[in-house]
Amino acid sequence: MKNFSDLGVEQSILNAIQELGFENPTPIQEQTIPVFLENGRDILGLAQTGTGKTAAFGLPILQLLETSARHIQALIICPTRELCMQISRDLVTYSKNKPGINIVSVYGGASIDRQISEIKRGAHIIVATPGRLMDLMSRKAININNVNFVVLDEADEMLNMGFEEDVEYILSHTPEQKRVCLFSATMPKSIRSIANRYMKDAVEISVGKSNSGNVNITHQYAVVHARDKYAALKRFVDFNSDNIYCIIFCTTKNETQDISDKLIKDGYNADCLHGDLSQGQREKVMGRFRHHAIKILLATDVAARGIDVSGLTHVIHYHLPDDIENYVHRSGRTGRAGKLGVSFTLLHMREGGRLKDIERMSSVKFEKVLIPSAQDVRDKKLIAFTDTIINTEIEESIFDAHVMEGIKPLMELEKEELLQKFLSLELRRFSVDFANEPDLNIGAGGERGGERSSRDSASRGGSRGGTRIFVSLGKKDGFDIRSFKDWVADSSNVSWKDLHVDVSGVYSFVDAKTEHVDSILKALNGTTYKDRPVRAEVSGDRSNAGESAGGSGGGSPRRSYGGGGGYSGGRSSGGGGDRRRNDSGRGFGGERRNSSEGGDRFGSERRSSGNSESGSGFGGERRSSGGEGGSSFGGERRRNSGGTGERRTGGSFGGERRRRKE
Ligand code: AMP
Repeated sequence: MKNFSDLGVEQSILNAIQELGFENPTPIQEQTIPVFLENGRDILGLAQTGTGKTAAFGLPILQLLETSARHIQALIICPTRELCMQISRDLVTYSKNKPGINIVSVYGGASIDRQISEIKRGAHIIVATPGRLMDLMSRKAININNVNFVVLDEADEMLNMGFEEDVEYILSHTPEQKRVCLFSATMPKSIRSIANRYMKDAVEISVGKSNSGNVNITHQYAVVHARDKYAALKRFVDFNSDNIYCIIFCTTKNETQDISDKLIKDGYNADCLHGDLSQGQREKVMGRFRHHAIKILLATDVAARGIDVSGLTHVIHYHLPDDIENYVHRSGRTGRAGKLGVSFTLLHMREGGRLKDIERMSSVKFEKVLIPSAQDVRDKKLIAFTDTIINTEIEESIFDAHVMEGIKPLMELEKEELLQKFLSLELRRFSVDFANEPDLNIGAGGERGGERSSRDSASRGGSRGGTRIFVSLGKKDGFDIRSFKDWVADSSNVSWKDLHVDVSGVYSFVDAKTEHVDSILKALNGTTYKDRPVRAEVSGDRSNAGESAGGSGGGSPRRSYGGGGGYSGGRSSGGGGDRRRNDSGRGFGGERRNSSEGGDRFGSERRSSGNSESGSGFGGERRSSGGEGGSSFGGERRRNSGGTGERRTGGSFGGERRRRKE
């Protein structure tokens, strides 16, 4: 693989990007930079957001600029102010060791006078949205007659937003002798037509196939009743709350505001972005989101365009967008820079047909997942909490006589009561009646509530049917899957062929046939292993391991939940690939209130002081052990086994393009 230096990037820029941690060029950079630097041809790049486009065109432009010349040499046009600001910020960062380069961004919603005076002071690079640039041109406040480079970034977005004429007008006012670089995530006819008219002998560069989406993104969906959508959203977020950092796409400004208000009222760390907000409000929200002060951002498509935030764990579609390109664009906000991401769609029955259209017209493959049950959420929290407690090192220095005196009333409580109180406190924050919350999925039977048990009993027939047993030993005791399985088999005289195991840090699960459960419990309970007392018990009421689609379950949806979670207490043992997102160090602590935010559920991350295998704080990113063939609740990549049986036909897609409204 070539490095940036091999591509011809000069030392001062190399130093700057090294500091950013850019070790190797991304594919679009590898293909674009040498062409840009070495020959005079135009570039037509087919690339999604998040592929590293900004540096692909930005680094060569910065390198080729003549700082001594005072005219505008590069014009970068992009669809939104957010993207405009982002590109400018990136260029400033890349050029920090190259003094004397003036980069001015011009976009609507901010003072035009200030922008005019910045341009007058001398700009080498203008980063602009089409509307504001047109305005400046009509005021004769900008001269683009001598530019050497024009970049059209997210060209398809600009056309989607109704900027086609503006873009053509702008291009027609640039000189004949210039280099044009056009990037687009999709290549509809309209883009081809612009390319044919305004570009000469362009080198075509493509990373990935048109509409291909990003291989780092898992596309999931769940089907719920329309009336349950909000509850399902909360459940999904609760389950993934350990590490969630997401954008939720809504259809209208009202819906965006409405869901955001409800989430905030329900204690989530959310806010929204839509066209009714002032520029100042938008920037404030974006700033807070970028700095993780907000973990959940609700946005309309238009408002979210150009948002460049790295590290999104999920993109959630509260409704599917009207066209496929929008879906690809939305999803492309996660799974960036090599990280894994989940694009999750909440569907109600009538929306099903569109998924098929997306699959047909892009290479996106959907898998059906189930909305977690309230008990799933509770179990995950409990396991995480337990793990954290176990792994917390006691800070002896805190417990002086004064403190000991203060906690005397606690010391007088029975251990069990004390624990129950702690756990109650922990779970109360979810304001959920864990025992009685309904199952929100619409499944094969279409029944609500009763569906769960029918699914459970059906799945017991699977190759993994049986009962799940919790065992208080894990990797910390030196076990891996094989040795743990052998140990359980030897201790209980049950053939290891009849066992499936899932080994975590401080505990494990054994999935066994129901007739073997007693032998296993008897054999393990009350014994010790390397001086640790062994506790084994049937794991809750969801004892069937077969529910996971990752096993032999074929097309049945898994109760998954979006990758980020890593619910080791789930029904399956770990998936072979073990490619889970591992934001280790995060966990349930993400749920702690962020005092500065007031009343949110997701705030500062707490780290466990212990040394759990997963590095999880409040246990959030629990790792399930890989290699047992099934897919776990965890963050590892799931196979696209689901969905096929669930696809529906009908429904039209790709209707009217939305014009720019905001
Ligand atoms: P972009 O597509 O330009 O918006 O870039 C997407 C993300 O990838 C940004 O957060 C960039 O900072 C990051 N990025 C771009 N190029 C590289 C690289 N070569 N190595 C690592 N990260 C990169």
